[in-house]
Amino acid sequence: MGFLDRAVKRAVGNAVGNAVGGAVQRAVAPKIEQGVQQAAQQILPQQQPVYAPAQPPVYAQQPVYAQQAQQATAALGGLFGGLNSMATQFAQNKKICPACGAMADGNVKFCPACGGAMPEQTLGQGAVCAACGKQNDIGTKFCADCGAKLPTAIAQEQAAQEKDAQALAQWDALLPQYPKWQFGGHSFHLEAEPAGDPPYIEFSVCGAGRAELEQYRQLLLQSGFRPAGEYPDPCQLFARVDGVVYHVDLEHAFEGDALELFFARREPRGGFDYVKPQPKPRPSGGLFDLLK
Ligand SMILES: [Zn+2]
Ligand SMILES: [Zn+2]
Repeated sequence: MGFLDRAVKRAVGNAVGNAVGGAVQRAVAPKIEQGVQQAAQQILPQQQPVYAPAQPPVYAQQPVYAQQAQQATAALGGLFGGLNSMATQFAQNKKICPACGAMADGNVKFCPACGGAMPEQTLGQGAVCAACGKQNDIGTKFCADCGAKLPTAIAQEQAAQEKDAQALAQWDALLPQYPKWQFGGHSFHLEAEPAGDPPYIEFSVCGAGRAELEQYRQLLLQSGFRPAGEYPDPCQLFARVDGVVYHVDLEHAFEGDALELFFARREPRGGFDYVKPQPKPRPSGGLFDLLK
């Protein structure tokens, strides 16, 4: 049944998991698995030909097995095809916490798991088309009847834009504190990927080489950046500014055509102030000396 389990997980994940999170997926998966087990029971006992002693296998029944297997496979296909509507029905009156992904009933105002504010609409309401009124499957982005963007998709986009704007504002405040860029005459441009986790900012510097990179590394070191953490690396430099750890990746700077520097808000592995544990010195004198 291993392949069926994998197929179920994949199908459930594709249908509902990506769009509305693991909560619906976890709730719907057992029902699907139950259906799959039932369908599989129709196939599996039939797979072994019946051997009677001193007689050839009963090949005559093979067309029957093939037919049953075909029916069962078709049933499986229908099951997977119906996942979206099953998930929609199940989650009609449920809400998903945008902060932690927990699921709660439609009348709940604050997340029972993290205390955050729950969205106004249930998952079902979020999939009702504002233009034509059709109840679409949850997790879909556009109305199946008229193509209009659905309320949940609009709300998700707005939330993502707000999060981007917040992350960019933090970087704007921080960047003047970094050492000035001294790539004499070279142009550079700035790309922000605030949607990443954690958000990072990327500088592409056209025409700069390894000498400039080393020059910039020295500048960072002079400004208080340093290798840190469990595996200190001279190409991974960290600084703590107002309690937030910032990280500059110089190791993967030449992965594209241009020199690219990555700034991220990330603790080094093991933490900024990681201290390697030293083996305890054995006490000397007394019994220990006698045992040597
Ligand atoms: Zn929550
Ligand atoms: Zn519509």
